[in-house]
Amino acid sequence: MSDLHIIILGPPGSGKGTQAQRIASGMGLKHLSTGDLLRDSVADGKELGTKARAFMERGLLVPDEIILGLIKGELASLNGEGWILDGFPRTQLQAEALSEILEEKGVDIDHILLIDVDPDVVVRRVLGRRVCQDCNAVYNTATLEEGKKEICGKCGGRLVKRADDEEDTIRRRFEVYKEQTSPVLGYYDKRYGGHITIEGAGDIDEITAEIIRKIK
Ligand code: AMP
Repeated sequence: MSDLHIIILGPPGSGKGTQAQRIASGMGLKHLSTGDLLRDSVADGKELGTKARAFMERGLLVPDEIILGLIKGELASLNGEGWILDGFPRTQLQAEALSEILEEKGVDIDHILLIDVDPDVVVRRVLGRRVCQDCNAVYNTATLEEGKKEICGKCGGRLVKRADDEEDTIRRRFEVYKEQTSPVLGYYDKRYGGHITIEGAGDIDEITAEIIRKIK
């Protein structure tokens, strides 16, 4: 178990979700992904999910007040364990709200990680992305064996394409990232004096190893 508090940022399809899952299970951290929480709410037919769905499918950010309601509950339920925040914060307002929540809890952020990747690499990768409907594990058709492209190797659940993984939606999400999420890095650079950049185009295992080397 680790008590590190890590934020992982990066454009859509940069692999931040995959890396966050790996770092969390490798280091004993709680993996908190607002994207997963939202998709679970959509699948459960919850009111919050119904509101969020229209934004997600268009590649737009879900309004800050919905996201903050979701993440506040998650953070409040933690008892001193370490975590990795994946996909949050995505706007300056969310970053400021997170700082307030953490100050109240007396928690510091230990590392800000940026997974950096070229938009064309992202489009190729995202079009092949498949997610397990049951356990949220992420795969890519490029590395799944023939005949095993539809079943989760971890839990046997069905692998599906995310509704927001279409080319025009991905390009829009990239624009949204540049306009609304990139400034979050500037906010953290000012507040904490910098972040760790990881090149996200390479081999998944090597990227995981590099992240672990840099945060230990
Ligand atoms: P992700 O799984 O992190 O790529 O998130 C999928 C989608 O969920 C995003 O494209 C947004 O529509 C929405 N979403 C996830 N996290 C946030 C957030 N922190 N703020 C606003 N929208 C979010």
